[in-house]
Amino acid sequence: MAHCIVPEAEAILDKEFKVLDRGFVRLVDYLGGDQRIVQAARVSYGEGTKSYREDAALIDYLLRHEHTSPFEQVVLTFHVKLPIFVARQWIRHRTARVNEISGRYSVMRDEFFMPAPEALAPQSDDNKQGRSAIPFDADTASRIQKILSEGSRVSYEHYKELIDLGLAREISRIALPLSLYTEWYWQIDLHNLFRFLMLRLDMHAQREIREYARVMLEITRAVAPAATTSFERHTLQGVRFSGPEMEELRRRLAVDAEPTATQDSLAVASTSSVSPKETKPAVLSHLSKKELERFEEKLRTGRQL
Ligand SMILES: Cc1cc2nc3c(=O)[nH]c(=O)nc-3n(C[C@H](O)[C@H](O)[C@H](O)COP(=O)(O)OP(=O)(O)OC[C@H]3O[C@@H](n4cnc5c(N)ncnc54)[C@H](O)[C@@H]3O)c2cc1C
Repeated sequence: MAHCIVPEAEAILDKEFKVLDRGFVRLVDYLGGDQRIVQAARVSYGEGTKSYREDAALIDYLLRHEHTSPFEQVVLTFHVKLPIFVARQWIRHRTARVNEISGRYSVMRDEFFMPAPEALAPQSDDNKQGRSAIPFDADTASRIQKILSEGSRVSYEHYKELIDLGLAREISRIALPLSLYTEWYWQIDLHNLFRFLMLRLDMHAQREIREYARVMLEITRAVAPAATTSFERHTLQGVRFSGPEMEELRRRLAVDAEPTATQDSLAVASTSSVSPKETKPAVLSHLSKKELERFEEKLRTGRQL
């Protein structure tokens, strides 16, 4: 019941998992695992863990019903090396505890992110925040890489020149670009880590942070495999349907809706004799054309849109 040792997590402690060209993620430490989630959930009746199947079923139930606090009992500490532009997106996740290398204290190393040719693509036509799925041709990609590399080199030379002039490190660093690598310790509980992973594994998130999220999902699996499986089943691979979309699903599957609590109370209060079933459109969808397109894309892709 005391300290949870998870052999799969022990095996990867301190191991560097490479991300991007020079980055990495390393699991520094962990507190708890699947066992801790079930111990915490069962504390109210003084019971501990049961068989693996029963524990996994309980974890699945807790996750499905958003009983989140047992997941907060599990904590992971990561050491991450990442470019500053990725760090700026990452730091928006406020529920983590962070300690970053200090550019006021240390002279920053000349380590810059260089995107691979296949990651260099034009601005997307349909997603204002993203890039096209089709990368530039090899010649254009190589020209872009040259511009980026030249930019980092010149910036770093200027930075060093300012340091050599005796300018304080905290102000010299403003000459450095967003592609510079930084490092931090990042500690978060499992509930909030799942939220981070949900947002940053999504196709709408920037490709570079998605690469970190993919590695972190696997590290999380080593610490809490049953919880990670439930998270994948219900959160990553599941989608939410709005009320009108549910109506559309029922219409297509010819399934009648059970009256909801609200409909029940309305039925009691109402003098009308029309049941919810009779008010349901028999043939036509009541989603607009655009809503219908989105609904069908959701069904096709399994993505939250
Ligand atoms: C694809 C994508 C695009 C984005 N684009 C932009 C953009 O253009 N501009 C921009 O500024 N941001 C952008 N963001 C950042 C986004 O708006 C969120 O700030 C970020 O995803 C962190 O989410 P969060 O607040 O849920 O996470 P966390 O900060 O980790 O919080 C987790 C949850 O804890 C609760 N919480 C945490 N802190 C508080 C608090 N102080 N008060 C109340 N509740 C709290 C909330 O319920 C929150 O959902 C983008 C994010 C994504 C994934």
